[in-house]
Amino acid sequence: MAKPDHSKLEPRARKVKILATVGPASRDPEMLRRLFRAGVDAFRVNMSHGAHEDHAAAIACIREMEKEFARPIAILADLQGPKLRVGAFRGGKAVLRHSSHFTFDANPEPGDESRVCLPHPELFGILDKGQRLLVDDGKIRLRVIRAGPDEILCSVEVGGVISDRKGVNVPDAEIPIPALTDKDRRDLAFAIAHGADWIGLSFVQRPEDLAEARRLMGGHGALCAKIEKPGAVNRLPEILELADGVMVARGDLGVELNPEEVPPLQKRIVNAARMLGKPVIVATQMLESMISAPTPTRAEVSDVANAVYDGADAVMLSAETAAGEWPEEAVTIMDRIARQVERDEGYRARVRLLDTPPDPTTADALSHACMTIADTVPISAITVFTGSGSTARRVARERPGVPMLVLTPSVRTARRVALLWGAHAVTTRDIGSFEEMIAKGKRMALRHGFGQAGSKLIALAGVPFGTPGSTNLLHVVTLSGDELEKHGG
Ligand code: PGA
Ligand code: MN
Repeated sequence: MAKPDHSKLEPRARKVKILATVGPASRDPEMLRRLFRAGVDAFRVNMSHGAHEDHAAAIACIREMEKEFARPIAILADLQGPKLRVGAFRGGKAVLRHSSHFTFDANPEPGDESRVCLPHPELFGILDKGQRLLVDDGKIRLRVIRAGPDEILCSVEVGGVISDRKGVNVPDAEIPIPALTDKDRRDLAFAIAHGADWIGLSFVQRPEDLAEARRLMGGHGALCAKIEKPGAVNRLPEILELADGVMVARGDLGVELNPEEVPPLQKRIVNAARMLGKPVIVATQMLESMISAPTPTRAEVSDVANAVYDGADAVMLSAETAAGEWPEEAVTIMDRIARQVERDEGYRARVRLLDTPPDPTTADALSHACMTIADTVPISAITVFTGSGSTARRVARERPGVPMLVLTPSVRTARRVALLWGAHAVTTRDIGSFEEMIAKGKRMALRHGFGQAGSKLIALAGVPFGTPGSTNLLHVVTLSGDELEKHGG
């Protein structure tokens, strides 16, 4: 069978990135490819669901796609964390009726409309009468009538359909569960062994949680702290300092807190991450109705658009692509919304409402200069030469008006910046000299569609090459258009 020709795949016509969750609706290799073509930049492998062998197959397929499409793709392995979930039901689900009684117990038998297993021994004995249990992102609400050592009897305040392994939040109680469960440790080892680029840490409460994850990661992968607990919000600056990126995990955040507290927090978290030049993902329910419909609601379209206007690095799809009926359509719509926002003439000013003054470093001074040069003269791209990706992050932090072509010898860096605003990464061999750098920058810009004859490019690098933190060189060059012929591949 002939290999399909993807060399015509254009760079994404937007700066914000799309992160899509892999699941039963998208695990099929053909569907993963369709999602990528439709606009996915990074895939989330959700360790809360599915078996390691399913995840391994999806990861292998994504790595295969990188070769086919000749583009690095980020894989975020999202650890479940101390997320509480109910067990399974006979037939997969049950209906809980308003004001009926419902029991959570330790019996592993499939549940029904009167009971289900709650496989978290930590919860038995710590709950009190009157406290709330919220199931499935708070859609189903129960209140404790009596909490014994091996069963919790509740009254159903808001009923509905409850299905296998739905999440449970207990906002009124503090649960003595460590940040990384035994399952998380196994999943983390699996994710590292399979080369995950990002590790998502769920239900972070304290900076120490990140330190523990970092220790277990042993220098592999980048760490994304999911902000979904009031405790994490309270200690946001310290958590951001220790993380490589953050997720505004609105699903659990809006259950642990009142939902109306989430929008201001979204803006606060996005701004705080941008100030530090760390990628920030806005997640959950972005196109929720597309789980079962081919078109989104107007409110969902606005929500995605507003996250883009907020200046988020990435917007995420969850069940829409993991378990929905319209995964490809969801990605297509998200891509269209993002492109429309970024075409809006008010977009750039709005994104720059957040003032991100450069740190007093040469790297930041030059990153800032890249932004102002691109605002002043027509520039087709900022070409950034980087090993660790740090220079790319400092440039992205300025939210420049033109795309950023990240040239790096490190495939890890190339994959990692797939979640970074405005970054299009290409892996190259190490650069030896200034002349080689300029020639390569021009060649890559032409080859990857970031300019044509007569276009101006900014080249940003550090000399001597390969020295971390040495960013000290900014050059503006003009493409003649014959760079490809002259130098070949
Ligand atoms: P989850 O995290 O989908 O893993 O729960 C995101 C969120 O809570 O919003
Ligand atoms: Mn969550």
